[in-house]
Amino acid sequence: LKSLAAKISALKMSSDASATQCSIRACNKPIHDEGPRTGVSLCRVHFDKEVLKLTEQKDNLMKKLRALRDTPDTSQLRVEQSALAAEIEDVREMFDELEEELRQWRQRTEARVQAVHDSVADRLRDASEAEQCEKDLTAASEAGDVREMAKLAATTELWLEEASERSAKFNETRLKLRERQSAVSHGLSGDVVFRSVGDVAAGVQQLKLVINKHMASVMQQCWLEDGDGGTLTKRPMTRIDKLEDQPCHLQCWASYSKK
Ligand SMILES: [Zn+2]
Ligand SMILES: [Zn+2]
Repeated sequence: LKSLAAKISALKMSSDASATQCSIRACNKPIHDEGPRTGVSLCRVHFDKEVLKLTEQKDNLMKKLRALRDTPDTSQLRVEQSALAAEIEDVREMFDELEEELRQWRQRTEARVQAVHDSVADRLRDASEAEQCEKDLTAASEAGDVREMAKLAATTELWLEEASERSAKFNETRLKLRERQSAVSHGLSGDVVFRSVGDVAAGVQQLKLVINKHMASVMQQCWLEDGDGGTLTKRPMTRIDKLEDQPCHLQCWASYSKK
């Protein structure tokens, strides 16, 4: 290994023909030191020149660094950053609440529609049961089968009582609904049609549209759209519709920056 190092150093010496002289072209002065930037052997004068250039470079860097550090709005940016951090927290909280409310509305809506469905299904089942029972009773009567008639009468009576109660309740609920509907439709145009089914899904779909439209408007209004500035031209000068809360954080920032 020692002999290898010696060989390499000998090779260097031989390739650097004038190893005792400054490596700058046409300078024959003796070597002072290695240039800190170039790494080549230099005389005193050329060494000092390189150090001077390095100092200039350092000063230039320092100037740029100071400019980057000393932006006049650093303190404003700091306030804005903490406002935005609080904003992120609030947005997260609001979305959590929204999701919870949406979940509750879904549960409530599905349960109500299910209840209406079930009462209609019950009514239909009772009607078809009554029809069948009527047929059986007629057949037994026509055949003069008194035992069958008695058996049918015995097994039917209790069910008939219960089914009649259910039917009366169903009709009453319907009647009340129709009365309320016609009370509301007074004063409205005659074309207003009330439906008990079908509008719920449409209503939920409308909610989806409202959310999309509203959030798109919020994104636009708060300058949060992603993408190139192409959307800037179509930014309308409208307000976010019915936004209850003022944007608190930006307001805080605005009042700070006025000081
Ligand atoms: Zn030199
Ligand atoms: Zn029973």
